[in-house]
Amino acid sequence: MSAVPSSRTPAPSWLRIPDDANALAPAVWPSGSDRDADGVIRIGGVSATALAERFGTPLYVLDEDDVRAHARRTLAAFRAAAAAHGVQARVYYAGKAFLSTEVVRWVADEGLAVDVCSGGELAVALRAGADPAHLGFHGNNKSVTELENAVDVGIGSIVIDSIVELDRLAAIAERRGVEQSVLIRVNSGVHAETHDFLATAHEDQKFGFTLQDAPAVADRVRAASGLQLVGLHCHIGSQIFGTAGFQESAARLVEVHAAIGDLPVLNLGGGFGIAYTSVDDPTPIDELAAGIIDAVAAECARRGIPVPNLAFEPGRAIVGQAGVTLYRVGTTKSVELGEGAVRLYVSVDGGMSDNARPALYGAQFSARIASRASGDEPALVRVVGKHCESGDIVVDHEYLPADVSPGDLLAVPATGAYCFSLASNYNYVPRPPVVAVRGGEARIIVRGETIDDLLSRDAGIPTKGTV
Ligand SMILES: *Cc1c(COP(=O)(O)O)cnc(C)c1O
Repeated sequence: MSAVPSSRTPAPSWLRIPDDANALAPAVWPSGSDRDADGVIRIGGVSATALAERFGTPLYVLDEDDVRAHARRTLAAFRAAAAAHGVQARVYYAGKAFLSTEVVRWVADEGLAVDVCSGGELAVALRAGADPAHLGFHGNNKSVTELENAVDVGIGSIVIDSIVELDRLAAIAERRGVEQSVLIRVNSGVHAETHDFLATAHEDQKFGFTLQDAPAVADRVRAASGLQLVGLHCHIGSQIFGTAGFQESAARLVEVHAAIGDLPVLNLGGGFGIAYTSVDDPTPIDELAAGIIDAVAAECARRGIPVPNLAFEPGRAIVGQAGVTLYRVGTTKSVELGEGAVRLYVSVDGGMSDNARPALYGAQFSARIASRASGDEPALVRVVGKHCESGDIVVDHEYLPADVSPGDLLAVPATGAYCFSLASNYNYVPRPPVVAVRGGEARIIVRGETIDDLLSRDAGIPTKGTV
């Protein structure tokens, strides 16, 4: 046997061997996370061992102060950048990143509106007591029932995604004798992914209208007595670093915005990236906000039109860093990769059912032993789940102290966004609870599922009273 095949090179080039495999990278963990005198990780002042003992594992932990701080900072950043050009900015929290009534209340409390994309998400936001006027509703295939319900509760705005939907919504609003505020979803042709963006002239994706079609769509909206056109809407992707993709997209949108004329709002969507590992270096939110809004203003100036009010829809950037998932290590095994290379597999009691992102997108995460600090040398590990898929990976590449063992608690940070919301019951594994931590206190905000919850949907099981 000769060299290790490149596909099995044990560590990717981006992964550094840490000086200290116990260290908590500040960009990745909730602010204020630390280790207590015994080396146990604390989140929001609550120790990981206490959390695991009280609530079990796997466990989603959400740091309330960290969610609130990101919400506050993001709103302040966009407001300040907009104010510099004499306009206003509204920030919608994209609920699909993580939605529960508590989180809706936290972000609403910090001054954010909420963006939903299904009847279920709308129900959560309303049940939380959110002001319907501060909700937006997008999605490429909202049902007639979802549209009717949204109009009936007085939702602030609906993002129209197709002609079919435009006509449906116009009919609904007209029947009810209301004037529904709407935006038109357009594809700017800019697709951004992390560090790069791709700009195309032709669109081949399910969301929205092309830039070329937007003016005709605007005419059709304006001709509908039940609809009030307030602006254009665009969302170019997710986990984006840097401002270049947003600026290119904004320039293309402003051209159409100017051609349509007299639109009070331009909604540029979300997609602002966060750090998942210590090598990720996202642009600070105030720099992003200024970079994007300055570019919009410059484009408006060039065309001699007033700068519109702006709206943004961050999801991941609000909740991502605030979440940590705790697991219990069940088994470990060492695999010889040849040439002396070894990978340590660390199996935990969850996996792709509580974090689908690695399996879905090849997403990278990091991990730390949470229940103790260790002086052992770092070893290359792959953290895997308990599901019946070899792609059931939680953390593809990480260095952990070599003595990581069954019984240890493992913490995976930056799991606040798109983990709980993408969770499944694959292999009939119950979905974990969500615990909010703040000031040394912990409380359940979403209870965990039980095996009985899972069985309760099976219509083949006779219930009491049936023969
Ligand atoms: C998903 C989505 C968002 C939020 O994206 P993040 O990457 O979480 O910021 C915002 N707007 C729309 C239309 C989306 O589909």
